[in-house]
Amino acid sequence: MSSIADNIVDFKSRLPRGVTLVAVSKFHPVEAVRAAYNAGQRVFGESRAQEFVVKVKQLPDDICWHFIGHLQSNKVRAVVRAGVAMVESVDSKHLLELLEAEATAAGRTVDVLLEVRVAREETKTGFSTDELRDLLVGEFVRSLRSVRVRGLMAMASNVDDDAAVLGEFERVRSLFDDLRQDAMAWSTRFDTLSMGMSDDWHLAVQAGTTMVRIGSAIFGARI
Ligand SMILES: *Cc1c(COP(=O)(O)O)cnc(C)c1O
Repeated sequence: MSSIADNIVDFKSRLPRGVTLVAVSKFHPVEAVRAAYNAGQRVFGESRAQEFVVKVKQLPDDICWHFIGHLQSNKVRAVVRAGVAMVESVDSKHLLELLEAEATAAGRTVDVLLEVRVAREETKTGFSTDELRDLLVGEFVRSLRSVRVRGLMAMASNVDDDAAVLGEFERVRSLFDDLRQDAMAWSTRFDTLSMGMSDDWHLAVQAGTTMVRIGSAIFGARI
């Protein structure tokens, strides 16, 4: 079995320049995060608020923490105050409003990605294409001061069909390119597309992602 450090080095060498690696450390202990950190990794993703807050406190300050799970309203304050750099899983306007309020109150800036609903599974959350278009041409996003809308996040269907998954990633990439035209009116930094996990990152890279979120392929199975 390869070590966490080897896996980090290996991913860094395999990912094209310009693709950011988010090491998803959820359910893994701080020692695992430290092993990845010592191998040079600085961007980590967590998906549960409580675990997030606890880990941030125990680990070095120069880690760039991403929140990638469903963020409940009553956890926004804690996650913002803990020092989240980016919330990748924003799935409602209400959550944007809460993040804006809490980030402003804390004197922080928080980057966010808007989650796109692409997968076939009914359970997957996120904005529809039409909702995203409405949001990105409207006044609301321009009024945000402490929240920076940096791009999109997507999860493909959990199916064993590379062509189907690649097709979904390609659709999100072209949606991202379209929306970037709208976003250009108010932002020069709508530049991030996060898609691809342990099993499908190579397809996301093929489709032109700029960020991948890798958990088990770095840290092993979650127990
Ligand atoms: C857990 C998780 C990942 C990482 O999944 P792996 O298959 O372990 O790489 C990526 N994105 C999100 C949103 C997750 O919840």
